[in-house]
Amino acid sequence: MRILLANPRGFCAGVNMAIECLDETIRMFGSNVYVYHEIVHNKYVVDRFTQQGVTFVDRISETPEGSILLYSAHGVSPQVREEARSRGLHTIDATCPLVTKVHLEAIKYAKSGYHIVLIGHDGHDEVIGTMGEAPASITLVESPEDVEQLSFPDDAKLAYLTQTTLSVEEAGLVIGALKRKYPHIESPPKEDICYATTNRQHAVTQLAAEADLVIVLGSQNSSNSRRLMEIGASSSKPSHLIDGAAELQDEWFEGIETVLITAGASAPEIVVQDVIDVLTKRYGGVVDEVVTREEHVSFPLPKELRRLQTERARV
Ligand code: SF4
Repeated sequence: MRILLANPRGFCAGVNMAIECLDETIRMFGSNVYVYHEIVHNKYVVDRFTQQGVTFVDRISETPEGSILLYSAHGVSPQVREEARSRGLHTIDATCPLVTKVHLEAIKYAKSGYHIVLIGHDGHDEVIGTMGEAPASITLVESPEDVEQLSFPDDAKLAYLTQTTLSVEEAGLVIGALKRKYPHIESPPKEDICYATTNRQHAVTQLAAEADLVIVLGSQNSSNSRRLMEIGASSSKPSHLIDGAAELQDEWFEGIETVLITAGASAPEIVVQDVIDVLTKRYGGVVDEVVTREEHVSFPLPKELRRLQTERARV
């Protein structure tokens, strides 16, 4: 069996930075550290940190006063920052800079009197954080049908933004519907769907044609991982989103000659290699890695953490 291994896959620059940020915080302060929401949406990663003693919280009130709190890669609203301040928490912001960019765009448009149509998934941590920047000036839409329901006057000052991890194709349909209904709507200065989402989707779109089966490593609550699985399914290939090798089922591989393997931006390479090991042993799989795009993106650790590192080095 041929194992067609997509490249790029797995960790993006934002996830790498957030995980390194938490690792470094633990190194400096011990594991009595709190994280607002999952640091990234991946079970393996969250389990690893939980076993080290990190506590993940969904409410600021669950964090003891004066403790260290990290904001996850998905970003938070100003209300959360204010609550953390008033609780005397020492916060470290591991928000991906590409999410921060969308926050800044929302603030800029709202200040300039625009109403913002945000294309994203209701309830996703990133969407909650972005909407919190200007709640009275943002309306969320998920589909072209939602766009039909909008009732802004024809001359309304409008701009649109998108969640960073959407399907490029589906977001394009929503943007098309918005532009047909409101031809003057302002586009973001630069694409909001991030490079990592775009590149991983492009790889699956390109490689799924050669495969009989698509396996995506990632957690069910990972937006970008789900999109990869959906792209596989829309290519009419059986497609499965799994956290790891333990979820592989023998019947998936009956009559399969080529399996495409990829991983969402929050899935670590170790879970990919575990799956490859199993497929190699069970079905004599041979790996054929195909690079569809080169990636050379990295982000520095948050400045508050770098400052703490410098202060420690001086002591
Ligand atoms: S998927 Fe994109 S926006 Fe999200 S953390 Fe990674 S680089 Fe940042």
